Amino acid sequence: MKIDKYNQLLQDIESKTKQFTYQGYLFERGSITFIGASIVGANGIHNCFIGEVVQIGEESQGYIFGFRGEEVQIILLDTSSKVKVGDPVFRTGQALSIPAGRGLIGRIVDPTGRPIDGRGPLVTSETRLIEKIAPSVIERKPVSKPIQTGIKVVDSMIPIGKGQRELIIGDRQTGKSSILIDTIINQKDANVICIYVAIAQRASTVSSIVETLSQFGALDYTSFIVSLAEDPPSLRYLAPFSGSALAEYFAQQGKDVLIVYDDLSKHADSYRELSLLLQRPPAREAYPSDIFYLHSRLLERAGNFADSIGGGSITALPVVETYGGDISQYIPTNLISITDGQIYLEKELFNTGVRPAINVGLSVSRVGSSAQTGLMKQVSKGLRLDLSQYHDLKTFTEFGAELDKDTLYRLKRGELLVELMKQPNNQPVPLILQVFMLYAYHHHLLDEIDLTRLQEFADQMYAQLKENAPQLIEMILRADKFTEELEATGKKHMIEFIQNFKKSCIEETE
Ligand code: ATP
Ligand code: MG
Repeated sequence: MKIDKYNQLLQDIESKTKQFTYQGYLFERGSITFIGASIVGANGIHNCFIGEVVQIGEESQGYIFGFRGEEVQIILLDTSSKVKVGDPVFRTGQALSIPAGRGLIGRIVDPTGRPIDGRGPLVTSETRLIEKIAPSVIERKPVSKPIQTGIKVVDSMIPIGKGQRELIIGDRQTGKSSILIDTIINQKDANVICIYVAIAQRASTVSSIVETLSQFGALDYTSFIVSLAEDPPSLRYLAPFSGSALAEYFAQQGKDVLIVYDDLSKHADSYRELSLLLQRPPAREAYPSDIFYLHSRLLERAGNFADSIGGGSITALPVVETYGGDISQYIPTNLISITDGQIYLEKELFNTGVRPAINVGLSVSRVGSSAQTGLMKQVSKGLRLDLSQYHDLKTFTEFGAELDKDTLYRLKRGELLVELMKQPNNQPVPLILQVFMLYAYHHHLLDEIDLTRLQEFADQMYAQLKENAPQLIEMILRADKFTEELEATGKKHMIEFIQNFKKSCIEETE
């Protein structure tokens, strides 16, 4: 009798829902007992596990998020769900996963993997679990190769390695997203797959980012996982985990992946929203007490991996927003301690025209020069010191103090360096040009160039070098250091160019 009833139920379910993945022994049917904003409660599915997908009625799907007494807490995965109290809930026995594969490159999908770019279904057969335990220490290798951001101040003073987690931190509108976009643009021809994760962004912001990246041909190697501000908190919460799952797919194929999370402040807010809706007790600043665990388990999934698990790497650039430049708030301090360094953007620098507005003194890369090419190591020595001495001495000039020759010299060098590090967004600088400019800085070749024309100088020098000395560029890049011979030839080219440039400046003023 019991068996008959059971079979009858199974037939019922199969006829009602086609999506339902039936696994005999897992079969459980419950019903919805509570409806909240994008969350529901259910009973009767006691054996389900956290992260399992459940089918609700015929149309909706949910994700097991927690337990409260007899009730199972479920977050809804649909944006326009019409779930009612009493609707049946079925277990699927499957953990939530996202489609993964090359078919996602150049595509925009929501955090459950549904395409939202209007370009038809995804062509991919594989899936990856959204939540996964990060690889262990034994499955990792030290970070040793650099990822070139094309941002001069980063590549020379705050170098990022493949597999590193570097936090981008700063107030609103200080150029945080621009750092991510420039880095993605700079991965063209670098054989790195990029994943842009938008968390609770405005649709207009996302479309302008996609537009910019497509102009630079970055869609050939970039995927977008997008959750918008108006999406339910469940989708906003899932976005970075989905991105991470996709990154893992590529890393397992031995690829280098760059994943950017824009931004984790909004992720923390979405998680807080979900948790408060589920009546979990709030802790510091009303965030749930496991918020640190949330972000640490996400960022743990980045790294440089051993060959036993594919040998790829996942470099993560999470963004976090501060208020009034205060980095001691709860979420920023959490993330600072989870990541391997931070790039700190300052409103004041941004407003005074120092862009990218990176405060080098407060920024750090804990991987350091082991994530730099040999060439960059050679030419970036002493830059941080020059810059910090300049900032210290600059305060004296504000009091109108009389300055000695040495101080004046340091100030002049500092001004030159600050100017040298300025760079418009969407214009990453190739490594060789960075190296040449820094070489010129160290050897006092730029001392007589008008600071306002430095950018123009760099552009022209690069064009000339590419035209007149392509072999030299190639040889330097291949050797990855300035040998005596290469240095002499390079210097000769530079001096020649500098003289011509100075001459043309004088002619213009006459
Ligand atoms: P939000 O807090 O709104 O997300 P954000 O910190 O991500 O802002 P961006 O959107 O990257 O900042 O940049 C803010 C503005 O500053 C944009 O208009 C961008 O074009 C400009 N900007 C960013 N970097 C530079 C730069 N290096 N040079 C000139 N302008 C820049
Ligand atoms: Mg931004």
